[in-house]
Amino acid sequence: MAFDAALQEIAEQAWEVMEAIGRRTGTPDTGITRACYGEGEQIAAEAVTEFAAGLGLTLEPDRYGNLHVLVPGAEPDAKVIMTGSHLDSVPGGGNYDGLAGAMAALSVAAAARRTGGHQRGIRAVAMRGEESPWFGTAYVGSRLMLGHSTLEEIGALRRIDSGVTLREHLDALGYADAPVLPISRGTVAGFFELHIEQGPLLIANNLPVAVATDCRGNIRYPEARCLGEYGHSAALPRAFRHDAVMAVAELALEFERFWEEVERRDPSAVFTMGKLGTDPAAHAMTKVPGEARFSFNFGSIREDVLAEADALLTRLLATIGQRRGVRFEMGPRFGSAPSHLDPGLAAAVEGAAQALGIGAMRLATVGHDAAMFHLAGIPASVMLVRNAHGSHNPQEAMERADFLLGTRVLGGAVMRAAA
Ligand SMILES: [Zn+2]
Repeated sequence: MAFDAALQEIAEQAWEVMEAIGRRTGTPDTGITRACYGEGEQIAAEAVTEFAAGLGLTLEPDRYGNLHVLVPGAEPDAKVIMTGSHLDSVPGGGNYDGLAGAMAALSVAAAARRTGGHQRGIRAVAMRGEESPWFGTAYVGSRLMLGHSTLEEIGALRRIDSGVTLREHLDALGYADAPVLPISRGTVAGFFELHIEQGPLLIANNLPVAVATDCRGNIRYPEARCLGEYGHSAALPRAFRHDAVMAVAELALEFERFWEEVERRDPSAVFTMGKLGTDPAAHAMTKVPGEARFSFNFGSIREDVLAEADALLTRLLATIGQRRGVRFEMGPRFGSAPSHLDPGLAAAVEGAAQALGIGAMRLATVGHDAAMFHLAGIPASVMLVRNAHGSHNPQEAMERADFLLGTRVLGGAVMRAAA
């Protein structure tokens, strides 16, 4: 267990570095802000580079600013095992969403360098811009690195706070001449990502880690509207009304009923109407509302359940619209297909957890960089570590002991896959 002992010692240092990055990129009140290619993410990038250097690892940027290190194995021609996560955060987020996985990955690479014995090379990566608020698209670093998008396609996107384009940000950071690395299913045998859970289930089940089976897909309409007819709240009998709020309320409750029914066979299903309101310029307590705006967001790991939800939505928009005399304009549609993560790698995580004497439950999870690897045909796995208060908020928390244990499980899984 020389590897595990080395990893434990390195992970303790990693925790301190992670806490220091947190103090430098946010406050307890306002939360953590690490914009993609911005000041906070750059502070994290420099701090992890220094941390790695202290452990004898030289981190090198690729063309998109992702920071890599490869610890060669005994078989130089074999495909490598890769592990990592992202350095950025949402505006006013928490310290561990992303950064914990990057720190854990670097710790595993450093321990492997110290003790050796693996056949496949181990590549650790700290990625950029996974969160969508910055450029309006998620997975910037991993998407570009894996070739799902090119700089020609997304380089002109402007960052929401700076107004500067993605390509200009890369150039300003000096990455224009950095290499495009051959990261593909031809060179990578598997990708492991450690990530905080962002949900309450591990705390509820009193377990430190989980293995994610799938990343949810979703059907999303961020800017939907229902158009009815404004009228006098007292003078207009019910039968004469075209009430947009009641129509959206019916849609919401019908979907909640569907969700309740479906969750018995698909516990991964989620439904949220996170935005909902009337027009403040036109609404009044004494007016029947003629317009309501809302968002629609249904997620599941199952294609068939997503298809059912889609069909139900089409049906409800027609029937509610007809019966109530209102019209739904759903606006642009976004969303993605579910990613089914690799069972072989999941078994490696479970085996590594067992070897440390802990159980790991299976859970569905949200979108992570691992989904981009999966989409590139690379077997991918996400392990979730217990954390309090969800994520994307300043209260997000994680226990030091859980980070240390999670990192050891990740290390065990990576070494099994690289053996
Ligand atoms: Zn994340």
